[in-house]
Amino acid sequence: MKKHLTIALVAHDQRKADMVAWAKFNASLLSKHHLVCTGTTGGLIKKAFDELGIKADVQCMNSGPMGGDAEIAAMVVRNEVDLAVFLIDDLNPQPHEADIQMLLRQCRLHNVPIACNRISADLMISSSLWDDDTYQPTEQTYVKFDR
Ligand code: PGA
Repeated sequence: MKKHLTIALVAHDQRKADMVAWAKFNASLLSKHHLVCTGTTGGLIKKAFDELGIKADVQCMNSGPMGGDAEIAAMVVRNEVDLAVFLIDDLNPQPHEADIQMLLRQCRLHNVPIACNRISADLMISSSLWDDDTYQPTEQTYVKFDR
């Protein structure tokens, strides 16, 4: 698998504290990769890395409600994202619910690993499969099922 990854990071407002804590916990790993974030999430992650004195390659898209999730979904469609961490606020309605569902669907459809909580994100980012040159993700099949 690829060693230099593009990792998408998106956190809703009530989940931003968790995202910052997760990014700090994984800072040395994340600093080796290209990070693409929705606007506000990216700003907070940049600030957290600055405070730690760690250089990071953080690209900020639009803020989520202004289309940032849609921009990242388009990158997923173009196979430009290797891993996504998406901390969704499951307790409050979001104005951009359609974009959220689109990002989730495009990750599923294009076989992009997507973590929606911190433990999944920890497990995914630390997987030894990233360093396994023999590992090839299997293609997904959509085969008609006859009962
Ligand atoms: P934000 O967007 O990082 O710009 O807040 C996240 C979202 O709400 O999808």
